[in-house]
Amino acid sequence: MHNSLVFVLNCGSSSLKFSLIDAKSHDEILSGLADALGSSNPIIKYKYQGDKKTIALNANAMHQSAVDTIVTLLSDLSLNDAVIAVGHRVVHGGELFTQSVVIDNQVIEQLEAISKLAPLHNPANLIGINAAQQAFPNLAQVAVFDTAFHQSMPAKAFTYALPHALYKEHGIRRYGFHGTSHYFITQQAAKMLDKDVSETNIISAHLGNGASVTAVKNGQSVDTSMGLTPLEGLVMGTRCGDVDPAIAQYMIDQLGYSNDEVNNVFNKQSGLLGLSELTNDCRVIEERAQQGHAGAKLALDVFCYRLAKYIASYTVPLGRLDAIVFTGGIGENSDLIRASVIEQLEIFGLALDEQANLDARFGNQGVITKNSGAKAMVIPTNEELVIALDAIALTQE
Ligand code: AMP
Repeated sequence: MHNSLVFVLNCGSSSLKFSLIDAKSHDEILSGLADALGSSNPIIKYKYQGDKKTIALNANAMHQSAVDTIVTLLSDLSLNDAVIAVGHRVVHGGELFTQSVVIDNQVIEQLEAISKLAPLHNPANLIGINAAQQAFPNLAQVAVFDTAFHQSMPAKAFTYALPHALYKEHGIRRYGFHGTSHYFITQQAAKMLDKDVSETNIISAHLGNGASVTAVKNGQSVDTSMGLTPLEGLVMGTRCGDVDPAIAQYMIDQLGYSNDEVNNVFNKQSGLLGLSELTNDCRVIEERAQQGHAGAKLALDVFCYRLAKYIASYTVPLGRLDAIVFTGGIGENSDLIRASVIEQLEIFGLALDEQANLDARFGNQGVITKNSGAKAMVIPTNEELVIALDAIALTQE
């Protein structure tokens, strides 16, 4: 019997990830994805007690209908009454939100004002908040921000070398994302290092379809690779990360691309997909690279080299490095990418423990280097748990 569950919602423009977390045991009781919303065949896929099931939604169904269907499902499974709070992943909190907040009308107005900074993400988050408010009118809702953990960055790290008025008047600066994951990794790394969080210096590499690396000094983010938007920094599944900004103008002036097409190329057709000319799925790229596919090899080379350079540069703000931590779908599972990155960071005295590197996959955590200086380790991330715990902390005093 569960008596304190948190409903965690992560809304995209045409999809909605959800899970139910037990606030006491920290177990994920149910998880799922409503996908292809607004299309002719939207569907909910969910996992409960080891079984995977699907529910077809009506054609053109959107977020509200998905959330209503999920609530009916929870009720059919007799889980509904145990839900005591709702936690929302919100991508952009601007400079206003340095920590999670209980959502009220003022917060909604502030989120609407920030939406122009994240037009691809925040409007969908607001739709999710609205849908959950309709579906759970009696429950407190909490917003947990991807940007909040990075609000501790100093001005020298978050300021672009652009005319300063663009920051002062329009908020153009680096905000950073994946903050919930980097925060969780910091807490777990401190435990593994047997240190107080306030004395923990790590470089956290969240490598999934989106990827970012964060320098954490004394438990706080002091630099991170994503910027005003999640496009900056590392090579990602379909995003290019750092490029010369003049390339955009060149593509428009010389190659006849429109603004939207350039945006689409940078966000959706680049990264591992663009380089490999195959896919953004890292597993397939690794397989094809091993079979000799030149594009797949190039994609992995550029990915690992950029990542190693970023990690090396983040030793600058840290001074002392306790550990490099790999997480996210690629960081938690790809022994190959971890081995390549560690090899390129030999100058820091890192030496790979090959067996430990193989063992730390598919949900297993562990230290994957064998020397006694700075360590490299693998820690599976758990953003949903952070969201659930914040939702509980802010609503159940
Ligand atoms: P995420 O966005 O965190 O779910 O991560 C998705 C990425 O993780 C995709 O590129 C997957 O191909 C990659 N991934 C998952 N499992 C593995 C694996 N065993 N080896 C390499 N990459 C993996």
